[in-house]
Amino acid sequence: MQTGITPAQALHRVLEHTPVLGTETVSLRDCAGRILAESVVAGRALPPADNSAMDGYAVRTGDLADACEALPISLRVAFEIPAGVAPDREVGCGEAARILTGAPLPRGADAVVRQEDAERDGDRIRVASAPRPGEHVRRAGEDVLAGEEVLRPGVCLAPGHVGLLTSLGRGYVAVRQRPRVALVSGGDELVEPDGDPGGGRIVASNAYALAAQCREVGAEPLYLGIARDTPEEIERRLRAGLACDVLVSSAGVSVGDRDYVRAVLEKLGCRLLFWGVAMKPGYPLAFGRFGENGNGRGPLVFGLPGNPVSAMVTFEEFVRPALLHMMGHTHLYRPTLRVRLGETLRKAPGRMHFVRVVLAREGGEVVARSTGGQGSGLLRSMAEAQALLLFPAASTELREGEYATVQVLDASFLAADAPGF
Ligand code: AMP
Ligand code: MG
Repeated sequence: MQTGITPAQALHRVLEHTPVLGTETVSLRDCAGRILAESVVAGRALPPADNSAMDGYAVRTGDLADACEALPISLRVAFEIPAGVAPDREVGCGEAARILTGAPLPRGADAVVRQEDAERDGDRIRVASAPRPGEHVRRAGEDVLAGEEVLRPGVCLAPGHVGLLTSLGRGYVAVRQRPRVALVSGGDELVEPDGDPGGGRIVASNAYALAAQCREVGAEPLYLGIARDTPEEIERRLRAGLACDVLVSSAGVSVGDRDYVRAVLEKLGCRLLFWGVAMKPGYPLAFGRFGENGNGRGPLVFGLPGNPVSAMVTFEEFVRPALLHMMGHTHLYRPTLRVRLGETLRKAPGRMHFVRVVLAREGGEVVARSTGGQGSGLLRSMAEAQALLLFPAASTELREGEYATVQVLDASFLAADAPGF
């Protein structure tokens, strides 16, 4: 097992052991945000037939070629085509058909004159300008041709895709499965949120924050409760998670007397691939995987540190990309940005720091400032963070005015205060 590796090495290790999950079929009602796992070929053209883009009159442009203000041409309105009704007759010479938006264009006609451009008088219209062939007509197949591949596997289904698939008559699509993530907390000092946090106890918040992080990417968290600091209880809780795709525990993974998580994982047959990443917060991170078992592949395992910010940051940097990869996403990382430092930051060399910062747009640039104390138990500064600033392992100082890279967690600093139109 490797120890003390860099965050980049750790991430590489994680991803090389992370499978892409299988597929499942879901209703179009539930597919938004999922990753398409099939190629979608249009079974029909869109629009399926030539149809009117306006309320007006279907005409033969040949009849109106000489129409002008001085000499309007009169046509007989021979019949009417409501939307959704296929016309059963043809527009003959000297005729027009009343047509509504979306209604199929009748044979004979090759353009639509808008009703505001025609003067109606009983069963006749007068038209004072010559329409172009195809004017105000939506052509069959102008959007999609039958037999055309419209979506490829790997697309993250957005509302526009849902509309397109629905128009093509699809009710269901194949998408990548969502990982089920078992969450176990560990510690004798922990109580559930409705418990009594007196006498040295604290509320076990990690599994709740981590479940929210799972949901944010579309994974399904399963909370398995608090394990007391005994090997037996840790084993019992971890076992309950073995049927999931990912097992995430927090705490008990460091070098304390009662940190049994790693030993229990190994006893259960987990192959630990690394422990300890040169980062702050989050050094004591363990990663491993179970081999093939009777029910197929065993879960990936992340033993996250117990400190609430360490747990969240290590989830963010390693578990989140793994979950996205499992779901078939091709974009695994947060947007990064070069930003100007609004204050000087200092640290000891050796580990990369993930500094919680807030962002502001100032004079065409984005400026980052620390959320304050960076202790790994200070959850409020995690709650306020809009980005994590990458303070490289070897550097000891980033001065005010210098530039650094941030991973953007919350892009609300980009939100406009007016709509821009
Ligand atoms: P440990 O890794 O067990 O040494 O825990 C490190 C710190 O994280 C300790 O101060 C624990 O009390 C705290 N901690 C552990 N688990 C949780 C949890 N689920 N929620 C909040 N804090 C926790
Ligand atoms: Mg502990």
